[in-house]
Amino acid sequence: MTQLLERTSERVSFDDLEIGEIALDLDDQEPEDVIEWGLSTFGDRIAIVTALQADGMAILDMAVKIKPDVRVITVDTGRLPQETYQFIDEVRAHYPRTQWDVLFPEATEVEAMVQRRGVNLFRNSVEERMLCCQIRKVRPLVKALQGLDAWFTGLRRDQWASRAAIKKVELDHDHEGIVKINALADWEGDEVEAYLKENGAPVHPLYAQGFTSLGCAPCTRPIQQGENDRAGRWWWETGAPKECGIHCPIETGSFEHEAQAIF
Ligand code: SF4
Repeated sequence: MTQLLERTSERVSFDDLEIGEIALDLDDQEPEDVIEWGLSTFGDRIAIVTALQADGMAILDMAVKIKPDVRVITVDTGRLPQETYQFIDEVRAHYPRTQWDVLFPEATEVEAMVQRRGVNLFRNSVEERMLCCQIRKVRPLVKALQGLDAWFTGLRRDQWASRAAIKKVELDHDHEGIVKINALADWEGDEVEAYLKENGAPVHPLYAQGFTSLGCAPCTRPIQQGENDRAGRWWWETGAPKECGIHCPIETGSFEHEAQAIF
């Protein structure tokens, strides 16, 4: 991999036909090659959006080897486990040149939501859980995406049915047609684990406690034997997408709009 020589601040965009051709070309490429395409194409108008899960750490580690000052975006929902706060500091120290945006939800929206529906509204109904995710996580991210031309995610096809058809590169029509890059789309969990080990990348400490997907403290638990890796997210819900809503419009319908309607 070569160090990028240029950064660009000019807007870069593609139409459906162009991105379709690029996706065909990149879909059987290695994740590092897909990431290099993203970084060389979008310069400083692309960022890694991550909740510090293993997949995001693999993307980050690969990206840093190409562009040490790659942009990273994460959201502090206000309900994260203490381990995640500590881990953010650890990751920033491990990759000292990375540029971080730690986003926060709008305080007035959180206050209004909590006053009307309680601190733990997510336990009341799927709609209220989606509302909490909208206010605390999705809205800050949507705002950040408005300033980008592309974003890297850690999505993989084997994570959940709603992700089975993702491409390594696709247009994100739910976020103004920017480009969404899922460089690990065809990897499986054990490949991610092996990559992190081989490359000495930081691993969130909760994985050692049986967690297989990480999110807010009250909505995430370790999985039990035989369960899917995302079974520990909102485990009390049945028949609802195990998604916060940032990927929902593409993969599961308009759940987030229903959530917005009750606010
Ligand atoms: Fe709220 Fe739970 Fe979603 Fe976090 S994961 S934003 S606490 S509903």
